[in-house]
Amino acid sequence: MAHYLKAKAVPVNSASPQESVSATVKSVIENIRSEGDSAVRRYSQKFDNWSPTSFKLSKADIENIISAVPEQTLKDIKEVQSNVRAFAIAQRNSLHDFELEIQPGVHLGQKNVPISSVGAYIPGGRYPLLASAHMTILTAKVAGVSNVIGCTPPISGKIPNATVAAMHFAGADEIFILGGVQAVAAMAVGTESIRKVDFIAGPGNAFVAEAKRQLFGEVGIDLFAGPTEILIVADEHADPFTIATDLISQAEHGPDTPAVLITTSENVGTETIRHVNQLLQHSKLSTADIATTSWKAFGEVITVPTLDDAYALADDYAFEHVQIFTQRPREALEKMSHYGALFLGEKTCVSYGDKVIGTNHVLPTRKAARYTGGLWVGKYLRTVTYQEVTSESASGNLGRLCGRSARAETFEAHARSGDLRASKFLGDNFEW
Ligand code: NAD
Repeated sequence: MAHYLKAKAVPVNSASPQESVSATVKSVIENIRSEGDSAVRRYSQKFDNWSPTSFKLSKADIENIISAVPEQTLKDIKEVQSNVRAFAIAQRNSLHDFELEIQPGVHLGQKNVPISSVGAYIPGGRYPLLASAHMTILTAKVAGVSNVIGCTPPISGKIPNATVAAMHFAGADEIFILGGVQAVAAMAVGTESIRKVDFIAGPGNAFVAEAKRQLFGEVGIDLFAGPTEILIVADEHADPFTIATDLISQAEHGPDTPAVLITTSENVGTETIRHVNQLLQHSKLSTADIATTSWKAFGEVITVPTLDDAYALADDYAFEHVQIFTQRPREALEKMSHYGALFLGEKTCVSYGDKVIGTNHVLPTRKAARYTGGLWVGKYLRTVTYQEVTSESASGNLGRLCGRSARAETFEAHARSGDLRASKFLGDNFEW
């Protein structure tokens, strides 16, 4: 039913790169766990050629760095952060604590309590991804996290000034110029100079995603937000040039970026391929090399008979970003459920979501959208419960129920906690 106008090139030895990433990450984590800062320094030198006296920026460092950022960039950071903040506050306000009297004298409650300390990873190996600072740090602060450490790598041996400004304005309590696995591991296990956190958030490359996977349990993590993905669903009215532009906008992220078009129109499919190839070959795009590598290996253009087929196939891909270029784009809200974020209609695009619009850009990849949404205020909150029984008869009745229920599971000591209360409040016989 689905016809491939362009299939992805199946990577040769596709299993081995992931195995070697996993082995590298394992040994970095082990060594940081046993040696602390000296291993952090060694790996930072090895992977990023970066070994300053201190990885942590002082207040004075931060002020100097911000003063070197162009005024317009600072204004833009603040404008974008106000969009991200407004949406995050609305999300926070959508979460309500509540208490319910489930039967007379039995009170059950739920509260949303912020995590105490968070490590936010702001990627920057290839590009200064300053928008990730808004998404991770600012959102944590709106949730009420009191201690947020931010780590971002140097880029070609230099501090990414605008990223530091964004981290500072987002409310980071401490900022470290430190990247990759060494940053994630140091925040997760703690070293002499980096405090251990309870939770790590933020996107990153395959090494960062694998480090979070291996450390999960020891710390909480937001989600697997690995190399980005874009999928566009288009009908025959969609503009192939706009589709090509948006596919390339994500393909430039890295050489491993899947970019997929599913369309009901063969003409839209072939025209999109023509435009992508032409733009990559003949425009003066500074990131054309990366985007071309990525498009050749992971680009796909697929035709399907109907829009329903397109939605079903797109749902199966469960991609991070999905753009809908059809006459009734809102229909996708009903027809689809597996995606990190939906972009409805040609007037919006993934780049808006990535950089400016205000929804969070830290989103699930590699089919994680089947079981989680993206980063949001709620990920920084622990939903905890409490109970109070204020009536003696209610406690006695629960005690009898507990005694029977626990014995059905052969939990004798549990049963006696119930028996004791049934005896105290209802006069049942009880002996230890
Ligand atoms: P990054 O900060 O994630 O990774 C850079 C670090 O990787 C370096 O500091 C280095 O220490 C480490 N590294 C590089 N090569 C290594 C090696 N061979 N061995 C060990 N460590 C190594 O930055 P990046 O590489 O530019 O990647 C950013 C990624 O984040 C992209 O793939 C992008 O698609 C993704 N992203 C995802 C989302 C999402 O929500 N899913 C959002 C934004 C960005």
